Amino acid sequence: MSLSKSNDDSNREVLDSNSDTNEEDKNELCPGFKDVDAFVKHGFGVVLSATKASAGLPQPGDEFDFYRSFPGFQEFCESQGDQILQCMSQIMQHHGCRSHVKDRNKLTAVEERFDLVVDSNDVILERAGILLDEADGVNRNQKPVMPAGFQPPKIVVSSWNRKGSGSSSQSETFRLLHAKNIARPQLKFKEKIDNSNTPFVPKIFIKPNAVKPLPSCKKHVCQPEDLDVPAALADLIHQQRTQEHVEDMFAHPYQYELDHLTVPDSLLSKPEPQMYKPIAETKLSFIDSLEDLVELNEKLCKLSEFAVDLEHHSYRSFLGLTCLMQISTRDEDFIIDTLELRSEMYILNEAFTDPTIVKVFHGADSDIEWLQRDFGLYVVNLFDTHQGSRALHLARNSLDHLLRHFCNVDSDKRYQLADWRIRPLPNEMVQYARTDTHYLLYIYDCVRAQLLDSNHGQPGLLQSVWNKSKDISLTKYMKPLFTEDSYLEVLRKQKRSFNTQQLTAFRLLFAWRDKLARQEDESTGYTLPIHMMIKISEELPKEPQGIIACCNPVPPLVRQQVNELHLLVQQAREMPLLKVRRNWRQHWHVGTPEVTLFGPHDTSRASESELPYFSPNGRLKFLQLINLFETLVDYFNQCFVLKEPDVHTEQNSLSVAQMKARRIIESFENPFRMYLPSTDVHVNKNAKFDPSSKIFEISKRWKLQSIEQQQKELEAKQKAKEEAKQQAKKASGNWLFFSTHYLFNTAKKRETPASEVGEVTPKPAKKLKAAEKTQKTETPSQTSFKPFDYSQSDLKVFAGTKSKDNSQFDPNRQGQGFKKKVPQGQKKHNSAGNRSMSYMAGKSERGFRHNWPKR
Ligand code: AMP
Ligand code: MN
Ligand code: ZN
Repeated sequence: MSLSKSNDDSNREVLDSNSDTNEEDKNELCPGFKDVDAFVKHGFGVVLSATKASAGLPQPGDEFDFYRSFPGFQEFCESQGDQILQCMSQIMQHHGCRSHVKDRNKLTAVEERFDLVVDSNDVILERAGILLDEADGVNRNQKPVMPAGFQPPKIVVSSWNRKGSGSSSQSETFRLLHAKNIARPQLKFKEKIDNSNTPFVPKIFIKPNAVKPLPSCKKHVCQPEDLDVPAALADLIHQQRTQEHVEDMFAHPYQYELDHLTVPDSLLSKPEPQMYKPIAETKLSFIDSLEDLVELNEKLCKLSEFAVDLEHHSYRSFLGLTCLMQISTRDEDFIIDTLELRSEMYILNEAFTDPTIVKVFHGADSDIEWLQRDFGLYVVNLFDTHQGSRALHLARNSLDHLLRHFCNVDSDKRYQLADWRIRPLPNEMVQYARTDTHYLLYIYDCVRAQLLDSNHGQPGLLQSVWNKSKDISLTKYMKPLFTEDSYLEVLRKQKRSFNTQQLTAFRLLFAWRDKLARQEDESTGYTLPIHMMIKISEELPKEPQGIIACCNPVPPLVRQQVNELHLLVQQAREMPLLKVRRNWRQHWHVGTPEVTLFGPHDTSRASESELPYFSPNGRLKFLQLINLFETLVDYFNQCFVLKEPDVHTEQNSLSVAQMKARRIIESFENPFRMYLPSTDVHVNKNAKFDPSSKIFEISKRWKLQSIEQQQKELEAKQKAKEEAKQQAKKASGNWLFFSTHYLFNTAKKRETPASEVGEVTPKPAKKLKAAEKTQKTETPSQTSFKPFDYSQSDLKVFAGTKSKDNSQFDPNRQGQGFKKKVPQGQKKHNSAGNRSMSYMAGKSERGFRHNWPKR
């Protein structure tokens, strides 16, 4: 690994400077170093270069597979890997942790090693935390003064090794990954966050630079009496229009403008790169008032380009929070406190959607989504330098690489994962944030020039980058939606086999976690990290204490709700114990309904009250029958020596006999299918389903559901009346019935709050508040549609079956536990541990939620 070289260099630097002031008594504490600071500085340098080096390794997937096809690379990795494991094991031993990471006989799975590392990290950080707290107690008087209402960000470390910035030692220090005692910014938001399990509706209600106006509700109300057509046709047209209306609701508000955006010739011809101003000579403005924001918007509207970047926080929030926006023009840098101005940010749409102004981002994929989600901001005319870099086939496409390549600036991305909620922002973080946009316009010039040069002056390549950027700006934010099968997607990534009890436990814990995380506005990783969920599911502890023992450190919400969790585990333990096969079927049946029939969770699910024709005893027998059938299939499978297929080589590597066997098995129909819950929802179900189609499906269902309900009410109330009418007007067929019916429904609909119909208009302020109110006051006995409480209705909506009480997991029945807010004091609990949890768990879970582009 190339890090050894840079290590030596920085090593020498430290040692050299030490030799001047080499005092023997100090040497005793950290041999070879002047003092602890020097040692720490060195340590951080080493960790940093190791992190950099590891980021430089080929990425998992094609890139890695390609490299691995070289025996030399493989050998090198093996030997380096052994060395690293050796080293880790020594550190673990030193701290008295289980340290068999390097023992290949005892451990095979990466997950197990990962668990060991997590455990050891916890032990080490716990100890560090205790010591820091101790030290902190001694210095209690020296805490910095913070604005009222703010808990001081506890320790902030920073002056170490920020090269060249010359920011001579401020003794402030801050925690990079997770600062504790930060007041939740959400509490100050004017508009409450909508974590409900419903599709995201664009937040935009004013559309600057519109070519096509925002859809208005009125425009789409269809008046059947205007239509001189038969009733059935009118009905069809009505449905069609309603569908269009719903589609407009969820559409990208600037779809039309972006579809019609063309790049002017001036942006396709070679620019003369305009040098950036030195940071020291550039004015920096911190924007945290509406006044300043308006002024900034006016300034931006006069420009032909500006650069934008965002900083984000995702650990202590369910959907994530955009904490900061950086904007750089050719002359000035701006940092906007988007926590403070969250509800006002939309005014920037005037500049952001102006097609004559280029907005330069680096790696805008997430930014585009965050802008929509938090502010209702959209970008028309985007240039993404990450796409530019890719088209140029530069060695790396990250921003720090571009900075080095074009600006000779050595940035480090150390603060990328800092807790950006910290206020007031430490100067180091301001400086970091600023460098993310300060050079970007110059890089934009250089990239465009090179794209033309590398294509012999032809604009094709540059045009393709503009197109890719446009595609990115067309991305729609999708709220994470919980479905009955969400847990399977997570399990699929784990190489574990679960029995029915363990699987049930995992499913229940997963639902509990999602529900609670939405309610408390915490990330799922904070609520209960996956590796802990797996551990609880595997061990199925008999006592609540056992659940606590599975978690180290114990997440605050787990501690608070350990009894509820215990009930879920008990419920899982009551399942008939059966082995569940995985993988091969999952791979086979991806995209077909059989996934659920044969998939690992069906047996557990079928035990629910959804088998109405059986007594409890009969239900058990039924389950056993299903399992007998499955065991037979399994046996059949084994007879043909079908191994678990490798995802990549599955198709090619099977022999003819095996393929035949597979086809036979695939043709097996589960004879109990008719008794099992509907499986339509699993058709099209894979990681890359088209989210918008899902949304339409969902909203269509809501519509149907509400229409159905209205129809029933109508029928009940006016049965006699209508019968009379129908008979009297028999001659005019059902046309009159339709129109009365329609008019009645429209009238009803106008009275129905948005939250009930699931139909939301793009006027968020008022309507959302109304929806919130319904949510807050909701009681389990309410019969109207409540999107948030999917334990009762949503799941069924997703599954396409009618609303039914879910007897297995109903958080509403769990006393006040869910309603109660966690007292701040309790949340602070276990601080030292939380840090490691935030890092390890947060990281691993982010991995499955997003694919981070290289930045
Ligand atoms: P950047 O575009 O590099 O300024 O990153 C913007 C935000 O994305 C940061 O504030 C982080 O919250 C998040 N982020 C960037 N890279 C990663 C990563 N590798 N893992 C998790 N979060 C990331
Ligand atoms: Mn960014
Ligand atoms: Zn950034």
